[in-house]
Amino acid sequence: MDIYIDVEKCTGCQLCVKACPYGAIEMAGDTASITGACTLCGACVSVCPVQAIIRELPAVEDIDNSDYRGVWVVAEVSDGQLAGVSLELLGKGRELADTLQAPLSAVLVGDDVAGLVVGAAESGADQVYLAEDPALAQYRTGPYTDVLSGLINQHKPEIVLLGATEQGRDLAPRVAARVKTGLTADCTGLEIDEQERLLIQTRPAFGGNIMARIITRNHRPQMATVRPRVMRRLEPVPGREAAVVKVPVAFDEKSILTRIVEIARDEGAEAVNLQDADIIVAGGRGLKKPENFGVIYELAEALGGVVGASRPTVDEGWIPPYHQVGQTGRTVQPKLYIACGISGAVQHLAGMSGADCVVAVNSDPNAAIFDIAHYGIVGDLFEIVPALTEIARQELAQD
Ligand SMILES: Cc1cc2nc3c(=O)[nH]c(=O)nc-3n(C[C@H](O)[C@H](O)[C@H](O)COP(=O)(O)OP(=O)(O)OC[C@H]3O[C@@H](n4cnc5c(N)ncnc54)[C@H](O)[C@@H]3O)c2cc1C
Repeated sequence: MDIYIDVEKCTGCQLCVKACPYGAIEMAGDTASITGACTLCGACVSVCPVQAIIRELPAVEDIDNSDYRGVWVVAEVSDGQLAGVSLELLGKGRELADTLQAPLSAVLVGDDVAGLVVGAAESGADQVYLAEDPALAQYRTGPYTDVLSGLINQHKPEIVLLGATEQGRDLAPRVAARVKTGLTADCTGLEIDEQERLLIQTRPAFGGNIMARIITRNHRPQMATVRPRVMRRLEPVPGREAAVVKVPVAFDEKSILTRIVEIARDEGAEAVNLQDADIIVAGGRGLKKPENFGVIYELAEALGGVVGASRPTVDEGWIPPYHQVGQTGRTVQPKLYIACGISGAVQHLAGMSGADCVVAVNSDPNAAIFDIAHYGIVGDLFEIVPALTEIARQELAQD
């Protein structure tokens, strides 16, 4: 990409000089001139009233990304196991790699993690890059960025996928900046444009009101993060094998800027494992006050489920944030989701529409939640939810 000024058109108005966030435009006599500090951000282009600033995008046919091949999944390790989101991404990565007729690789970074190669292979990886070092035992931004960006520069994958977890959300932008490519966060859909070999990355935008389809046309790799429970993992194939590429790494602890002093766990958050729950009973603003969450807890307990919540109840402090389901909360895929006093805003649906069975309890027969519910109960949740709890208790007592 290039930006230049057509001096024949430039009137010397200096609007571009003011608009440039990097101070990269100076006046050279009566016309503006772009200096070496330009980052090609394009902020000047739209402010020029006479279209004298030209931004040239290279034509697709002039870009040669042919040396980038293959799909990578950065496999996250959580409590000594491959994180669920990494298995889900291997499932999606397998599909993308098959469409591209390219290999699927997992990148496994840590200390003493070779035992996890089998799980990656059985979940779809053809190859595993294995980077082990005591300095990599716990996630730290600096060394993980060094390892991953070094590997990308050396082996040139065309697609790199990471989980939109605390770790992935920290690591992915660092690596993308280091290898000078784009990154699409929190994708809900990934597919291949076979003609152009592009990754089409779908994600909600403008508060969830539209689904944006984003491509990284010029740069490689194409990088995306995906939240847990958005993609489906493959059934593992016992005995499936992957080639292991050992990555030589040796860190001098003194050269790493951060030390892990203590790992503090939020036990409340860990106890509420929404993402792996088979049954979720969720409450919304229809509960009217925090203490009324009691009816939701009782039904969840009777069914052996976990309590979810809509965002306003979290924002109001009725329930801790790790219960929130939705675009800015957790994405869940339970077998049963019971939504009580939840209207069904698009941002809530973004987190739970993957449930196998949705039961909605709402006093408004026109509530949007009924559009996606498999079973709808129109009525007062304060009558219906305790009645459901009673039935669940009786059924379980009979079992
Ligand atoms: C950028 C952005 C991100 C967001 N992210 C999220 C997110 O992650 N998760 C999320 O949930 N929201 C999110 N929201 C908010 C979202 O837009 C809605 O405001 C929210 O989901 C509404 O929550 P609610 O359904 O609990 O409340 P309301 O919309 O107020 O609905 C309450 C429902 O309760 C019903 N009701 C009332 N009394 C009773 C009763 N006695 N019995 C039965 N039903 C009753 C009403 O009919 C109504 O349908 C986000 C918004 C934005 C802009």
